[in-house]
Amino acid sequence: MLRRDFLKLLSTIALYSPLASANKKNLKKITVVGAGIVGTCIAHELSRLGQNVTIIDKSLPGSGTSGKSFNWVNATYPKRPYSYNYLSQLGIAAFDDLYRYIDFPSKWNGSLEWFVEPNKHKKLLNNVNKLSNYPTYSKYKIIDSLKASSYEPNINFNNNNNIVYSVEDGAIDALKTIENLVARTIFNGGKIRNNCIYKNSIYRNGKLSSISTSLGEIETDLIIFATGINTNLLINKKVLKEPTPGIIIKTKPYMKVINKIIVGPGIHIHQQNDGRLVIGEQDGAPENHKIRLEGYPSKFPSSIIAKQHINKILYKAKSFIKNIDDVEVESVEIGWRPLPLDGLPIVGFIDSKKDTYVASMHSGISLGPIVGKIVAHEITENIYNNLLKEFRPSRF
Ligand SMILES: Cc1cc2nc3c(=O)[nH]c(=O)nc-3n(C[C@H](O)[C@H](O)[C@H](O)COP(=O)(O)OP(=O)(O)OC[C@H]3O[C@@H](n4cnc5c(N)ncnc54)[C@H](O)[C@@H]3O)c2cc1C
Repeated sequence: MLRRDFLKLLSTIALYSPLASANKKNLKKITVVGAGIVGTCIAHELSRLGQNVTIIDKSLPGSGTSGKSFNWVNATYPKRPYSYNYLSQLGIAAFDDLYRYIDFPSKWNGSLEWFVEPNKHKKLLNNVNKLSNYPTYSKYKIIDSLKASSYEPNINFNNNNNIVYSVEDGAIDALKTIENLVARTIFNGGKIRNNCIYKNSIYRNGKLSSISTSLGEIETDLIIFATGINTNLLINKKVLKEPTPGIIIKTKPYMKVINKIIVGPGIHIHQQNDGRLVIGEQDGAPENHKIRLEGYPSKFPSSIIAKQHINKILYKAKSFIKNIDDVEVESVEIGWRPLPLDGLPIVGFIDSKKDTYVASMHSGISLGPIVGKIVAHEITENIYNNLLKEFRPSRF
């Protein structure tokens, strides 16, 4: 399905409602807890609709998982069932709309994916082909290694003639996007409080009146928890399983070697417009690292261990990518994935009082802008949007 068809669809569900159309009776003091991609997308949309919005973060915007992500925007085969896949398709389109309000570094050249192991590759093709059974799906093609090499002359595709080319995929710079979302929210009248830890909600006469934070009380009619891996603790309900770690390295700006997102042997990699290569490792952490990883650290315990990981990832990259021998690594970090118990996004009010909302999901980079639009619309218009019907927290 073409992106313009998505845009038509977005407009039919009134996601473009201009500020003037906000229902003035439903204007609230809203605090968004968490300045990751999900929280800042929601806050930005709320501010556009004229809501009185404050974002708080226990550290700085983007300091959680969003700042350590691979940043691939997609609606590909692991996104099942159709309701989730469809939301992700809308998610790609929602980035087009976001350009109307903020500038953010991004590249929309699609992705190429293959496995060297024949059984894994067969499984990939089976899964990808299932996409075409959906009423709509993100466009893909199966291409041979000659065609793939014409797109990516520096990559050895191991003569694989069934490479999955997902045409509509893109990659963003999530940190810059978050920075610009925050700036635009402030421009629209919103507020941000950094290094501000949510403690608890304060009710007066049975009604939410404020939240208590490490920086004092903030008057609040509605709280939105967009707190990534901390969500269980904050909403006092188990909706996420234990997060899993992933390592992301970024290089210093380098000459142009890659055009698309490459999901190849052992690693995935893309190159930002500023020349930085972003590389993620596909293997998870070994079981015997469990104790060391308690508390979900984002840095390695020593520079020696960090270096070992860098070497391993670069070794894998160099095994199939030419002309990257001189890359210099700028950062290596551990990101922790928020993992809903059933894999599907969790978005909605957590109780009948309708003063506490939650938004947590695994593919937050892909879904942030669409979720931001729908959530802001639901809250401002006081309606339930059926696009989120299968993702409500009440299912747990
Ligand atoms: C290695 C890796 C690669 C990934 N790759 C992709 C990808 O390619 N594409 C994709 O779509 N997704 C990807 N993901 C997942 C994606 O990054 C996450 O789903 C997304 O970043 C979650 O965003 P968030 O805003 O929900 O959470 P976060 O970015 O973690 O933001 C939550 C914020 O809440 C704040 N917070 C928590 N508790 C409190 C409190 N008590 N008071 C105040 N503030 C608080 C934190 O400081 C944090 O800033 C990847 C994840 C990892 C780890």
